[in-house]
Amino acid sequence: MPNRPSILFLDFDGVLLDSADETATTAWRGGRRIWPGEWTGDAAPRWLILAFRRLRPLLHTGYEAFGLLRLAWMKGEKMSSRLEPDPDNQRQAAELLRETGLSRERLTEIFGSTRDCWLQLDFDGWMNANRFYPGVVAALRRRLQHSPESLYILTTKQQRFVLALASRCGLALHPSRVFGLDTGKSKRQHLSELCPEPRQSGQSMHFVEDRLPTLLEVGEDENLGELQLHLAEWGYATGEHIGQATRHPRIDRMSLPRFIELLAPVS
Ligand SMILES: [Mg+2]
Repeated sequence: MPNRPSILFLDFDGVLLDSADETATTAWRGGRRIWPGEWTGDAAPRWLILAFRRLRPLLHTGYEAFGLLRLAWMKGEKMSSRLEPDPDNQRQAAELLRETGLSRERLTEIFGSTRDCWLQLDFDGWMNANRFYPGVVAALRRRLQHSPESLYILTTKQQRFVLALASRCGLALHPSRVFGLDTGKSKRQHLSELCPEPRQSGQSMHFVEDRLPTLLEVGEDENLGELQLHLAEWGYATGEHIGQATRHPRIDRMSLPRFIELLAPVS
């Protein structure tokens, strides 16, 4: 009997896609509505985008980019080049968001509508600000041609943006297999619902994610004990989190070449 393909649950940003520059630019443009008169023009200063990339490991959901970018802005060009993705900076960024007086829902709406506007007015420019990691698109395409039912995307991005990026790259991702921010559920909840039970013998299941706290949360769920957990070391994980993953009994530290191998369909 041929092996059945493994079932893959994949995070999007930081696993398939490097979107840090695009996220910073969306936050800059949306931030013009939050801090009018201070941030002007379509393009954020390059130093600010570089500072945001240093803080990117702290981001969980898109709207939080407003706080991280604001923090770098307040530090200024010189100081921001030394920013680290540590808990203190996370607290400061969250405080800057609280000071806006805007709800999480309102900030999410500003972030999403800014991105929508960019897509509609300049789709190529938006695409070019995003970058799939090397080898990922070709490997995903092969996988989706061979066994589209064996792959799910779990992301805190809104589903429509994932589908737009995939479609432009010729990836036939079906909307029913992309679970985005819009569902209001955590990745742990999705995994509990999606992991098939009972499984065919020999069929393995993998969750690839670059955010350690998410993997730790999933790892605590005893109903997901057969799910193999992988921390993507090429994404936005910090060195400290990669170290923790290395020592964790259930979490595997994964390199990009090994991930590309994992994507390969079984023969
Ligand atoms: Mg991620």
